[in-house]
Amino acid sequence: MSGDYRSTVFLPRTEFPMKAGLPAREPEWIARWDRIGLWRRLREQSRGREKFILHDGPPYANGNIHIGHALNKILKDVVNRTQQMLGRDANYVPGWDCHGLPIEWKIEERYREAGKDKDAVPVLDFRAECRAFAAHWIEVQKGEFKRLGVLGDWDAPYTTMDHGAEAAIVAELGKFLLDGGLYKGMKPVLWSVVEKTALAEAEVEYEDHTSTTVWVRFPVISTAAPELEAASVVIWTTTPWTLPGNRAVAYGEGMDYVVVQVTATDADSLARDGERLVVAEALLGDTLSAAGVTGHEVRCRLEGRDFARTVLAHPLRGRGYDFDVPLLPGHHVTEDQGTGFVHIAPGHGAEDFEIGRRAGLETPETVGPDGVFADHVPLFAGRHVFEADGPVVEALADTGRLLARGRLVHSYPHSWRSKAPLIFRATPQWFISMEANGLRDKALAAIDATRFVPPQGRNRLRAMVETRPDWCVSRQRAWGVPIAVFVDKETGEPLRDAAVMARVVEAVKAEGADVWFTADPARFLAPEHDPARFEKVADILDVWFDSGSTHAFVLEPRADLGAPADLYLEGSDQHRGWFQSSLLEACGTRGAAPYRAVLTHGFINDESGRKMSKSLGNATAPQEVADEHGAEILRLWVVGSDYTEDLRVGPEIIRYQVDTYRRLRNTLRYLLGALDGFAAAERAAPAAIPELERWVLHRLFELDRLLRRSAEDCDFHRFYSALHNFCAVDLSAFYFDIRKDALYCDAPASPRRRAARTVLDHLFHCLTAWLAPALCFTAEEAWLARFPSEDDSVHLRTFPEVPEDWEDAALARRWERVRDVRRVVTGALEVERAEKRIGSSLQASPAVYLPAEALAAFDGLDAAELFITSGARLLAEAPPADAFTLADVPEVGVVPEPARGTKCARCWRVLEEVGAGDPGDLCGRCAEVVAGEPV
Ligand SMILES: [Zn+2]
Repeated sequence: MSGDYRSTVFLPRTEFPMKAGLPAREPEWIARWDRIGLWRRLREQSRGREKFILHDGPPYANGNIHIGHALNKILKDVVNRTQQMLGRDANYVPGWDCHGLPIEWKIEERYREAGKDKDAVPVLDFRAECRAFAAHWIEVQKGEFKRLGVLGDWDAPYTTMDHGAEAAIVAELGKFLLDGGLYKGMKPVLWSVVEKTALAEAEVEYEDHTSTTVWVRFPVISTAAPELEAASVVIWTTTPWTLPGNRAVAYGEGMDYVVVQVTATDADSLARDGERLVVAEALLGDTLSAAGVTGHEVRCRLEGRDFARTVLAHPLRGRGYDFDVPLLPGHHVTEDQGTGFVHIAPGHGAEDFEIGRRAGLETPETVGPDGVFADHVPLFAGRHVFEADGPVVEALADTGRLLARGRLVHSYPHSWRSKAPLIFRATPQWFISMEANGLRDKALAAIDATRFVPPQGRNRLRAMVETRPDWCVSRQRAWGVPIAVFVDKETGEPLRDAAVMARVVEAVKAEGADVWFTADPARFLAPEHDPARFEKVADILDVWFDSGSTHAFVLEPRADLGAPADLYLEGSDQHRGWFQSSLLEACGTRGAAPYRAVLTHGFINDESGRKMSKSLGNATAPQEVADEHGAEILRLWVVGSDYTEDLRVGPEIIRYQVDTYRRLRNTLRYLLGALDGFAAAERAAPAAIPELERWVLHRLFELDRLLRRSAEDCDFHRFYSALHNFCAVDLSAFYFDIRKDALYCDAPASPRRRAARTVLDHLFHCLTAWLAPALCFTAEEAWLARFPSEDDSVHLRTFPEVPEDWEDAALARRWERVRDVRRVVTGALEVERAEKRIGSSLQASPAVYLPAEALAAFDGLDAAELFITSGARLLAEAPPADAFTLADVPEVGVVPEPARGTKCARCWRVLEEVGAGDPGDLCGRCAEVVAGEPV
């Protein structure tokens, strides 16, 4: 007969549920952390420790967060939590960027919908609406970031619209004003005629645009090269409306040119028999074919340098455009497209401006802020530039200078907000000089002194800073920090007076930046200066200057933070945005970067690698993932991804993360169950730890080193992949499986069971700590399931110190061999089970054929225990022909044989000893346990 021994088996017991219920439980954890003052206690507890400051790049406060925000903030959270648990003081102050065009645009949109005229609204009212709009979205985004488990000083974040911040930004600009770095200049800037403002590079999108193209003759009127006499230089342009601003023509110095005489033309050609045209030799065919020239003779060849001192006539000469047009060398002239000659309008392009400046040409202000030609522009005054191509082409045809026309679809700059095409327009703007006070050199040196993760970021930022023009910091808008500068009405020079600047800063600190718009200038200028002599600048600052100054008002003044930051961490687009503006601001005012390291992450595409967009409907909303699966799943996705590249996300990837989560959760659950009732007294002495457990400790040692290396490199992907693999393969499918018998069936006092539970305890301490930065909710739940407490938290812990002597590389190498052999046995038994020859592996007692060195690896080990069989024979012999083998484990073969004996009614091992003792249905071990340990 067989007894019922179920109550004598020590099955795992835990309250920790298999089903996580994350969407409902996560908000409860967040509320608990608020209740126990987790953030405050972390700060108190880590006071005096080595600081780690990740300075938050402020998101823009104008809408719900999207998946990119989620990636960014979760990554920062994992970095901060990891550094905190490494024993540092990782104080993290989140912030928001509040000023600028996108918010202004939203408010204007409301006005347009309500039929209100923006210009009729007092500027302070308008600014108040912008402020309220930003304040609203700060609260919304704060809730959304907290919901993702992001920990930080949410009760006291920074914003760029705080009065203190606005005052600090004014003061920072004041430093550039006082040291001469800030200057007022005429410069072509990328201009939106719809928004009536200059745009920053970051506000520009490139989209396809269809342009009218023209080939235009510029007659030679004087030259040192006799071959050019009576010829016309041919230019090609995609913006005919810029021709009224033309003041020069550029050629390529190293390029070859030809003078050709036209001998035959198509019927509708605008070219004339006998006329002489000058074009680049490489572009001759294209040009003649565009002009409908069917016959020509090459008169002579010239090199670029032969054009020196050649003067052309403007194609509209005789219609008010009677000035000389010099031929000048231009580095930007190429043989890719056009004619090898580029018309130069200094007010309508960056290169044009530079060429004009070097040649001492004027930069005419031909186009107003609304895109309309100024009154002084002959033929086109009062016309909008976007409607000027036709009239310009007609006028060219009229003067006989038009050689050909066409259309071209090409990539053209557009406003990212209004989607309207942009123009280059010469305007008076405020600039921070890259050369004054050696700013460019300082910035390049600071880049060399900064660590970049990944390292490619250094060259990217370096290349941008090397070639970038002066920083245009003025915007003709209303919602921002003012350019608090007075200009002398007579000289046009800005007033550089530290006392005036200090008065402005004090006023802004007390009353906010609005004061600049409302206060009587005398309040700042008197008594030293006569207010009547000065004009107040009405422009506001580029918002990149605001956020570029955050180091100055968030980090530097606070003893608990401090500058430079250890890390700036943003998407790779911030090389041209925040990383750069912060660098230039800090180098200009402090001579060094505001950061020690810069980390960039990629962008997020959908599962097939396409860009996410509303119109494609392929965006993954973080709020939806949190509501449906839990924020933990997003966090797992972040640490499971290689964020140095672009990332992918979508329903399939989320499902995969849910599976991964379940495996990690089950590992924790198993540990909790197996550790039921474990107390310190049960802990085994190190000498009593069997090899199997020592192997587990060695793996913990390896993972600990990997964690610390990954934290140093900010490469969490590597660590969490290894950790997941450890849980799924090393623990669940190997260690836990083998030790089930000892844990369930050994006597509580058995050294083997005590050693196993000792190691499970180490595992629990390590895994809950290591998972805490990523799975912040689940690690907390597991920790408190084992150690219930009113106010404790896993997040108050530091990572366990893993003893050096857990490392045992020789043992690990031997166990690799043992596990190889075990895989062959497991494979053989799977076949037996599939063929229904055995029910469980305990019914088998395989014969294992293996080489002598593999046999030696089993020295001192109980092979049957490792195989989870009731017996095993290890034979240092070549395997028989019918043995089961695995291709990747050569020379090892397994012949599955049934175990001899009777099945123990308690542990189910099949042993010959069963039946020898009392009770008769148990093995010796189980009989002893049942007799000695009444349960
Ligand atoms: Zn037994």
